[in-house]
Amino acid sequence: MTTEFSDLPPFEPGTVWLVGAGPGDPGLLTLLALHALRTADVIVYDALVDPRIMALAGAGARRIHAGKRGGRPSPSQADISRTLVEEARKSLRVLRLKGGDPFVFGRGGEEALALAKAGIPFRLVPGITAGIGGLAYAGIPATHRDVNSAVAFVTGHAAGGDVPGDVDWEALGRGAPVLVIYMALRHLGTIASRLMDAGRSGDEPVAVVSRATTPAQTVLETTLARAAQDAEASGIKPPAIVVVGRAVSMRAGLDWLGARAGRALDPDPLRQPPRQGSKPR
Ligand code: SAH
Repeated sequence: MTTEFSDLPPFEPGTVWLVGAGPGDPGLLTLLALHALRTADVIVYDALVDPRIMALAGAGARRIHAGKRGGRPSPSQADISRTLVEEARKSLRVLRLKGGDPFVFGRGGEEALALAKAGIPFRLVPGITAGIGGLAYAGIPATHRDVNSAVAFVTGHAAGGDVPGDVDWEALGRGAPVLVIYMALRHLGTIASRLMDAGRSGDEPVAVVSRATTPAQTVLETTLARAAQDAEASGIKPPAIVVVGRAVSMRAGLDWLGARAGRALDPDPLRQPPRQGSKPR
């Protein structure tokens, strides 16, 4: 592929580019990400980076997998940062490729600070985060004028594995009409209960968007009260984004992928009552 836009910055030896690869679909890569993939000497990549994206890497690039593999524990954050510093000190072009956006629940800040501390020059290249791009592929707008003037991006999973203690679900429940929750599957029941304790209706629409923007994408439409049991019963798989709020109803009108497969779109979706526990599609 050639791009008409060729005014891209050089990937200089001895530098690290910290790049977001987007949620999966290679078409959602930035031109900077593609440029970096083609010119990197070393690529340090996460489990969430789609194999179709890795296939775009230059033939000579050395690949270092920084995620969990074959049951072995993933390298620690300190190990990854150390690898980035060591490879850059060999005067190589080091691409650190992360799923979605590096700065959205991606520990990009920690890695960039380690580079700053070691005096390694770096560039930050944002990517499309799953909580926005994945929603678009499900036909759910993160904001819609008739629905919400605020949206909250939240993680459902703390470093230790529990529901994060520093998330004020009560305040979020009251203040954020639409919640986009990363890493939410494991604790979906607890999260839904906390939101209902905060006054959110059990009938509120919820979508679980799994493997968004990949050929294996599935979307479960449910309600807050039923979300955990429906997710469990459907067998829907991580990685998944959970969306809570009326924005989910917009899918009846905006599910463009569904429309390509024959779904009739409703041009007035907000009129519809919430769908009850439908099958993932
Ligand atoms: N930095 C990433 C998020 C990393 S945290 C980003 O900006 O998207 C990992 C979580 O991201 C997963 O548990 C899941 O909630 C979400 N996620 C990442 N890729 C996804 C995908 N293709 N489909 C659905 N959720 C995804």
